[in-house]
Amino acid sequence: MTSPPHDPPSPGVTPWYGTSRASIDLDAISDNVRELDRRAGDASVMAVIKADAYGHGLVPSARAALAGGARYLAVAQLAEAVSLRRAGVDAPLLTWLFAPGDDLTEAVERDITLSAGASWAIEAIGAAASATGRTVRVHLKVDTGLGRGGSWGDGLDQVLRRAAALQAEGAVEVEGIWSHFAWADAPAHPTVRAQQETFEEICEQARRIGLAPPLRHLANSAATLTNPSAAYDMVRPGLSVFGLSPVPDLGSPEDFGLREAMRLTARLVNVKPAPAGQGVSYGHEYVTETDTTLGLVPLGYSDGVPRHAGNAGPISVNGTWHTVAGRVCMDQLVLDLGASSTAAAGDEVVLFGRGVDGEPTAQDWAEAAGTISYEIVTRLGARVPREYVGGEA
Ligand SMILES: *Cc1c(COP(=O)(O)O)cnc(C)c1O
Repeated sequence: MTSPPHDPPSPGVTPWYGTSRASIDLDAISDNVRELDRRAGDASVMAVIKADAYGHGLVPSARAALAGGARYLAVAQLAEAVSLRRAGVDAPLLTWLFAPGDDLTEAVERDITLSAGASWAIEAIGAAASATGRTVRVHLKVDTGLGRGGSWGDGLDQVLRRAAALQAEGAVEVEGIWSHFAWADAPAHPTVRAQQETFEEICEQARRIGLAPPLRHLANSAATLTNPSAAYDMVRPGLSVFGLSPVPDLGSPEDFGLREAMRLTARLVNVKPAPAGQGVSYGHEYVTETDTTLGLVPLGYSDGVPRHAGNAGPISVNGTWHTVAGRVCMDQLVLDLGASSTAAAGDEVVLFGRGVDGEPTAQDWAEAAGTISYEIVTRLGARVPREYVGGEA
């Protein structure tokens, strides 16, 4: 349920002027984690909440994921991990993007688990361990065929040996070994099985030099939902935590027992009659066919509405879908509401939500803009206030 558009701001969202809001259902996040945990069998859930929790807000989403039973949290960047700790989130927390020369002291002192996917990274972690006198918890990132982060070949051998030596000295605790799929969204693709076999061989290679990390993790959302054999000790879903389907051709959120946590709304700020033949928005890429009514929505590409969705993005107004008329501007876009529209300035319009009340979904926007739902939610601009509903508070 969303609140009516005239509610006061939620704490932490200031100033509030009511032009738009993203309402985030924290109970949906908790329930989604519960469902993913159920699907993961004996494996536990590491909830990936990078990129401001896929646009949903880092700290509230972290707490909601933990309330749903996530055992571990993960973010891409070190700065995101430090923000979580500074906000008082003290659950186990993995991060994997930092650069040579970054000061790891605060991360180590705040008990953040660091990923090592290259020789320089395991050396930097070893140095941070000596500087702080602490034992650093480490997950070793291996490239089993994605061709992105992590080490392979001789580089992997070096990282494994160095990690084993540091562990023998008490400088690190190698708690995890992990990798990432290239084709998890196509479960029958031969690389999926091949990456799992490589992963298992690498775990064996690590064991031979004395490393037997208890947390082996490989499965993102798509693998968690479609490939139970990839669950190992922990699954690592992100998108599905927020109730979106990573494999829309294979199943909707509902099919997977998930529900979308974000609902993006705005209020019409101008509604006016327009004659037939009127060009609309920059470049007049839309021209009215009949006498009609134009409605102005105060959201644009700086708020995350894809500029690619000009003449394509769906928006529901009082239960009826309309398509963005003409170009999406930086702060605004226009709808052709039709001659008989009863819409008025101040009415709420819905860009996307769960779809259960007939509104579009983030997946509909992804299709309209030629992208994936990941991009629709993560690109939501900082200017759009997040309002939280549900949750323990
Ligand atoms: C983003 C990410 C995930 C989560 O992926 P989803 O497809 O959103 O579930 C897991 N692991 C790594 C390494 C990632 O970068």
